[in-house]
Amino acid sequence: MVADFVSADYGWLRSPDGNETARVLFRAGKGWDGYFTNADILKQVWAALSILAKHYPCEDHVFIFDNATTHQKRADGALSARNMPKYPSKSFYAYRNKIGNDGYLVYSADGQIVKEPIQMTGAKFSNGSPQDLYFPMDHPSNPGAFKGMTNILAERGYTDSSLLRAQCDSFKCAAGAASCCCRRILFNEPDFVAIKSSLETLCHSHSVHVLFLPKFHCELNPIEQCWGYAKRKYREYPRSSKESDLERNVVSALDSVPLRSIRQCVVAISSITCCTWRCGNSQEIHSQICQPLTEVQRCLFPRLEWETSSMGRGKVSRSPYASINTFGRA
Ligand SMILES: [Zn+2]
Repeated sequence: MVADFVSADYGWLRSPDGNETARVLFRAGKGWDGYFTNADILKQVWAALSILAKHYPCEDHVFIFDNATTHQKRADGALSARNMPKYPSKSFYAYRNKIGNDGYLVYSADGQIVKEPIQMTGAKFSNGSPQDLYFPMDHPSNPGAFKGMTNILAERGYTDSSLLRAQCDSFKCAAGAASCCCRRILFNEPDFVAIKSSLETLCHSHSVHVLFLPKFHCELNPIEQCWGYAKRKYREYPRSSKESDLERNVVSALDSVPLRSIRQCVVAISSITCCTWRCGNSQEIHSQICQPLTEVQRCLFPRLEWETSSMGRGKVSRSPYASINTFGRA
């Protein structure tokens, strides 16, 4: 598996001398390198951010990511109303992967990653002051217990929330409903809305913008067509069973993608419009696909200058890198 960043400005993300790269070659699967987790992605993004900060500090960068679960993961213990119980609970916690004394993940006998409970944090009142989600240890009836949605809401002024259901059936609240159930009210609270993914937090700390593609539409990521070009090239190489040969062929195939082709991939994505999705009759499709796509295109659009300058280097102010995707295993 290969994970990399590609830009229509520079091609694959690397330092000008080519010695520093954010590319990761990963032998995915049990018995190999394991699975590419959110922690692996953050490590790779850190490498990418370091290259940008060192070699391209004067440009405004945008990272475009597929809308995948591993990309959207929030920090351990981050605020989430998803599973909160309505009433106080001594067993409600957030969970994180357990790390052993050796610094590696701890696995159970059946091969599952061991999780450990931690308290959920990050709630804030409307004035910005922190709200504890757990009762203090000297609480008379529920020492140390999770407060439950009704108590959390009551402290925020929703004093009749105990009359509401925990959530509407399957949490499919009526369109536009904002105070139909406890969970919906919390979902709409500003501090719950403001929680970012770990990926966004890391990128924003380096002043790099993040855009997620519409869910299930990774084909809108220009890097997909770059993978396609490299795969075609890869198939032309002689067959081999030696891992070193295969890895060298993968790297060679990726490096063979011409910058001109990368730019053509970006131009192709930029030309997709609302009409492609026939969203005229569906506000849902428009808001879930067309609007996010338009936002991505807004960042890609300056690249259309290349068309008028024979794909030469155009004047650009933003530099989107489209990441991360699998190339397939060598
Ligand atoms: Zn509801």
